[in-house]
Amino acid sequence: MWDFKQKNTATTNVLGVVMFSVVLGTALGKLGSSGKPLLDFLYATSEAMMIITHWVIWLSPVGVFFLVVAKILEMDSLAIIVGKLGAYFCTVMLGLFIHGFITIAVIFFICTRKLPYRYISKMGQNLATAFGTGSSSATMPVTINTLDDMGIDPRVTRFVIPVGATVNMDGTALYEAVAAIFIAQLRNVGLSFGSLVAVSVTATAASIGAAGIPSAGLVTMVMVLDTVGLPSEDISLIIAVDWLLDRFRTTINVMCDSLGAILVDHLSRNDLKEKLELAEPHELMELKSSNNDKEVSTVVKKSYGSI
Ligand code: ASP
Repeated sequence: MWDFKQKNTATTNVLGVVMFSVVLGTALGKLGSSGKPLLDFLYATSEAMMIITHWVIWLSPVGVFFLVVAKILEMDSLAIIVGKLGAYFCTVMLGLFIHGFITIAVIFFICTRKLPYRYISKMGQNLATAFGTGSSSATMPVTINTLDDMGIDPRVTRFVIPVGATVNMDGTALYEAVAAIFIAQLRNVGLSFGSLVAVSVTATAASIGAAGIPSAGLVTMVMVLDTVGLPSEDISLIIAVDWLLDRFRTTINVMCDSLGAILVDHLSRNDLKEKLELAEPHELMELKSSNNDKEVSTVVKKSYGSI
């Protein structure tokens, strides 16, 4: 006999929104030019929201100050909370370390048969920039330079790094999941296995949605808290240590983007070489000057047809 107990909480259906966005995006991509008006509308809305967010961020120090003070006054024992916050901080740090230096290293080794530590040791400049700025996007030019110095194909870095800096945020996903579970425990909200899976899925989606700017993960975490029915104001419980955690998770985000680019370069080296051999720029120029359009288009198709 299974005894199912159902409890409904009034929250936004974040997973539904994420799923709908993915489906709508795919449909718009298929529509082509006739979907452009809707795409322009969504793009303009998103830009307008960014401007409003900038204004709100300017006001945030005052708001955050009152939020944190209110939470401190609510607490029975500040020492206990500070102790718990320390444990939370260490958990995130340990998770980031295991993810960056063990999990990713193993995946990298399986795919390339090389240890990533040799490459990581050459990433001092971009990792330091990531730590200093707390922004994957601001670090992007330095990351591209570092990878160029390592001899990674520029076509790979210039494609993988911008995508990675906006979409691939391993550190942020990990931190958001840990933070949501920490807040739930602090509030004595029990999380079932299903809720833990939902937290992991939404944390990953929220990290994809987070911009590569300082503390963006803190904002998208509202989605994760919402999934388990926790109020978004509870973010103020972790704000005190967030500025420091942000720097560490950004460093891991940037490191994983760079390793991703090295891996793609390794896997596509032969393909890229072939394409270069088929269509060196001077080869195309020569063909073009011979005015043999048919031949030019054959070479171009052969070389770049699959891109
Ligand atoms: N600051 C992070 C980044 O730029 C995003 C975040 O987790 O807040 O990668």
